[in-house]
Amino acid sequence: MKDEGKSIINIPRIGKAAKADFENLGVKTYRDLISLCPRAYEDRRSERRLKSSSVDNTTIYCRIRIERKDYIPSKKGGRTLKILARDDDQSILELYCFNRDYLDKRLHIGSEYYISASVSRMKGIYRAGAFEIKENASELGFGKILPIYPLSGNLNQKTVRSAVDYALSALSPIEDELPYSFYDRLGLMHHAKAYLYLHHPEKMSYVEMARRTLAFSELFFLELESTREKNYHRTVRPVVTSLEKKLIGSLPFSLTDDQEKALDEIRADLDSSSPMNRLLEGDVGSGKTLVAWLSALHEIAKGAQVAFMAPTELLAKQHAENAASLLEPLGVRICYLTGAISEKGRGLLLRALENGDVDLAIGTHALFTDDVAFRNLRYVIIDEQHRFGVEQRKQLIGKAKDPNILSMTATPIPRSLALIFFSNLDLSVIKTKPNGRLPIKTYLVSEGKRDEMFRSIEVEFQRGHQAYFVYPRIEEDEEGSIKAVEKMYEELRFIYPGYESRMIHSHLKDEEKVDILNRFRAGEYAYLVSTSVIEVGIDIPNATCMVIEHADRFGLAALHQLRGRVGRSSLPSYCFLVYSNGISEDAKERLKVMRETNDGFVIAEKDLAIRGPGEISGSRQSGFLKLKFASLVEDTDLIALAKEEAERISKDDKGLIKAENAILRKHVKGNIF
Ligand code: ADP
Ligand code: MG
Repeated sequence: MKDEGKSIINIPRIGKAAKADFENLGVKTYRDLISLCPRAYEDRRSERRLKSSSVDNTTIYCRIRIERKDYIPSKKGGRTLKILARDDDQSILELYCFNRDYLDKRLHIGSEYYISASVSRMKGIYRAGAFEIKENASELGFGKILPIYPLSGNLNQKTVRSAVDYALSALSPIEDELPYSFYDRLGLMHHAKAYLYLHHPEKMSYVEMARRTLAFSELFFLELESTREKNYHRTVRPVVTSLEKKLIGSLPFSLTDDQEKALDEIRADLDSSSPMNRLLEGDVGSGKTLVAWLSALHEIAKGAQVAFMAPTELLAKQHAENAASLLEPLGVRICYLTGAISEKGRGLLLRALENGDVDLAIGTHALFTDDVAFRNLRYVIIDEQHRFGVEQRKQLIGKAKDPNILSMTATPIPRSLALIFFSNLDLSVIKTKPNGRLPIKTYLVSEGKRDEMFRSIEVEFQRGHQAYFVYPRIEEDEEGSIKAVEKMYEELRFIYPGYESRMIHSHLKDEEKVDILNRFRAGEYAYLVSTSVIEVGIDIPNATCMVIEHADRFGLAALHQLRGRVGRSSLPSYCFLVYSNGISEDAKERLKVMRETNDGFVIAEKDLAIRGPGEISGSRQSGFLKLKFASLVEDTDLIALAKEEAERISKDDKGLIKAENAILRKHVKGNIF
C-alpha cells in the first residue's frame, strides 16, 4: 500500500479545517483513516418508518410520497419551504427545508423519494429539519449497514464516510500484514476483507471477526517489536562475583528461586554490550531490594558506580540504612544524598561522587539535580519507578552514558499488561515469597465487631509483636483525616493503656517520620497509628497486625500494598479490614477478594476486571499506549495468542529473513506508536 502514509489533505473535499478536525481524532494519513474504528453501526438493511420512532430524534429511513409544498414565513422576515409527505403507513411527516429552497424544484408533488431523517413528534405529527432525500434508495445506503464514526469539530458522518471510502479505494488492493499461513491457522480474515468489513459489514457478525483480526495484528506487532528488542544471549550463565558471593554467604537465609532467576537475567544484561532496560516486578515483600543490592555488587565489582533512587526521603533513608548494614562490611563505599542535607555536607558528597570515592549512591531525585556528576556511573536502579515522572527519569539517566537501568515496581501488573505497557522493557518477575512466609490471614470486620478485633490484637502485643492502625486519607481533606487519626489515637490509648504508641501523618517532618519508624523498628512502640503514610516499601518484620479502618474506601491495589507491610517474616500475620454498614457492591467485592487471596497478581487481575486497565495504578502514565482495535480487558486471549506467535517468530527467525516472514519485516517498523 504505497499511499498509506499519504496525508489526508490529498483527499477531495478535505481542506485545512477538516484536516485539523481529523487530526483531533488521531487521523493524519490514509492508513489512519482506514483504521478509524466506527463507534457504532446503523443497520439500514430494512426500512424504518415513522411509526417506529417513539422517542424524539430517532432516525428513520423509508420511502415517502410528497403531498404538499408551502412557504411559511420565517422569523427573520424570510420564508421557509415546508413539505408535507406520507410514508407507506400513511403517517404524516413535515419537512422544514431551512435555506433549501432548491428542493422545491427537485421534489415533485405525487412523486416518491427515499429519506433518512432525524425526526421528532408533536401532536401525532412527525417533523424533521435535518434530512437527506434522494430518488434512489441506494444513494442513502438503504440495504446496507452504515458505519457511525466518532466525530470532531465540524465533521459530519457524510464527510467521514466519504473520506474513509476514498482511502479504502485508494489503498486497495489492501495487502496482508501477516504471513499467509497465519490467517487460516488462527481463524483470521485477510486484511483486505477485515478493513472492508470494519467499515462496510455485510452482516453484523462480520464486524467482530474483522475487529479481532485487526486487534490480533495490532497486538502481534507490539509483541514482535518487544520480543525482537530483547537480548537473547542467555546461553552462558553469567559469572557471580566474589562480592556477591560474600553477601549471599552472610545472609541468614537463601535466595528464592525467583530471586535467583531475576538475578541471572539482570547479570546477563549487565554483562552484555547493549545497555539493560529491565523492569523488576515483584509482589510486596518478595525481596526485590536484595536483588537490587546483589546486582549493584555485580557492577561495583567491575569498578563501576551505581545509583539507587527511591521516591521519598523515608524510603531512601530506609534503603541507605539497609545498604549500610549489608554492604559496608564488604567494603562498599556508600553515600546517602537527599534534599535535606546541609550545603557543606552536600559539597563533600558531590566531590566524592565526582572523584569516584563512592561506589553506591542512594537518594531521592536529589541525586540527579544539575550539579551532581558521577565519575563512572554505569548502573541506575529506580525503586517504585511509577512514582517518578518521565522527566525525572530522563534527568537521572542523563548522568551516565548508556547506563544500565533497573526499574522496580511492587505494583503487580498482570504479565499480559506489563508486556504491553512496558513493551520497551525486559521483564523479570518475582512471584513467590521467601520460604517460610505464611499467608497473611485477612478478616473482614464490621464496625460493630471492632472490640473483638482489639482483643485479639492485644494477644499479639503480649507476644511482643507490633501493629499498624491505618486510617484512610479522605480525598481533598487532609485536615479531616488527621483529625480522624488523632481521634483513633486517643481511642486506642484508652483501649491499650499499658502500651506505647505514636501517631504518624503527612504533617510531620521527614526526620520526625524517620525517627518514629526507627524507634518502632527498635520495638519502642507497640503500634503506630497513621494515615496512609505507612507506604509501599516500609519493612519492619516484627509488625504482624495491620488494621485498615474504612477499608471500603480504598482501592484493591492500595489495600494490597498496605497489607503488604505485614507478613514480612516467618511470624503469622493478620490483616483486619474494618468496613462500614451499607457499603457498595463494588466495595464488598473488593473486600472479598482481599480475604480470599494474598496473591498480588490475582488481585491485580480482579482489579482489572472490576475497573479496567486505565485505572491500574502505575500504568496510567503509560498513556502512550493507544490501541485502536484491541481491548486490554476483553482481549486477554488475543494478547496471549499474539505473544505466543511473536515469541515463536522471534526465536525461529529473529532477523525476519525467511521468505514467509518478509511481510512482517515490512510492517514491523512504523506500525507502532
Ligand atoms: P519488596 O521490596 O519486594 O517488598 P523487600 O526487599 O523489602 O521486599 O524484602 C522483604 C523482606 O524479606 C526483607 O526484610 C528482606 O530482608 C527479606 N528477604 C528478602 N529475601 C529473602 C529470602 N530469600 N528469604 C527470606 N527473607 C528474605
Ligand atoms: Mg521494596
